[in-house]
Amino acid sequence: MKKILALALTAAVSAGAFAQGFPSKPITIVVPFAAGGPTDTVARQLAEAMRKPLGDVAIVVENAAGAGGTIGANKVARATPDGHTLLVWHIGMAATAGLYRKLPYKPLEDFEYAGMINDVPMTLLGSPKIPANTYRDFEAYIRANGGKVNLAHAGLGSASHLCGLMWQSAMKLDKSLTAIAYRGTAPAMNDLIGGQVDLMCDQTTNTTSQIEAGRVKAYAVTTAKRLDDHKLLKDYPTLQEMGLRGFDLTIWHGLYAPKGTPADVMKKVNDALRVALKDPKFIQGQQSLGAVVVTDNRVSPEGHKAFVSDQITKLKTVIDAAGQYAD
Ligand code: ASP
Repeated sequence: MKKILALALTAAVSAGAFAQGFPSKPITIVVPFAAGGPTDTVARQLAEAMRKPLGDVAIVVENAAGAGGTIGANKVARATPDGHTLLVWHIGMAATAGLYRKLPYKPLEDFEYAGMINDVPMTLLGSPKIPANTYRDFEAYIRANGGKVNLAHAGLGSASHLCGLMWQSAMKLDKSLTAIAYRGTAPAMNDLIGGQVDLMCDQTTNTTSQIEAGRVKAYAVTTAKRLDDHKLLKDYPTLQEMGLRGFDLTIWHGLYAPKGTPADVMKKVNDALRVALKDPKFIQGQQSLGAVVVTDNRVSPEGHKAFVSDQITKLKTVIDAAGQYAD
């Protein structure tokens, strides 16, 4: 009995000491897409803003791309649950639950939820080679050339894939577009600019500067309302305005850790996230790219998890209606 008590005490003391010592080494934030893309941009800005609140620790961003984000997510699900490996992922956390019938992890069971980061609209883009300059002309061009047009996305289950599916289904195209998968929308954007692919739907965190520089053509935003507060993006119509009734897609990003990460470590991560989301430099960086930093209850672990659970249900309905899956 004495021995059991002693063992229990040792375990309790070392668990406490461990959490107190967090972080005890650099933290890795896994981004499940290529460097230079929108999820990567969010993660790098967040890493910078969370560094000080976590005691000036080094935070390294690691790009583990492939399979629409599921490879990186699975890597984090299986990492040591000590808070030193975190995941920044987007709506794919919920969408892949509908797009993949077999996932190597369970989105609601295999992660600790730290909280949500932002909401980000998407833009529908064409390569500079597409002759259309307005959404109406673009739509006419796609209807006339449907079978010959390529759509770039960041892998099956990615946000760009989901947007492409929703858009094609809302357009009721006779001939579906040819989808080309990349390891993220950073490399896809390079090919769009070069005209090797024809169109892409992607987060404003990746597209704003390219639209501004005139390297790609923008036709519409995917949100239900126009982006009236953004100096550049406010000029683009919503897809609803263009006749695609009910079209409303906003991407969000959240922060996660492997299941089993101690509660006091998760509290430190959530506290640091809350500080980061109030950091004027972070807010400004996000706003300039069209993103809105979360201020509501979704920043709490419970609030974010409830939101993701709801998104899984909603997106599954959309995906089942489109009738297309990743596996
Ligand atoms: N925007 C990408 C997507 O479509 C991912 C990325 O490269 O961040 O999911």
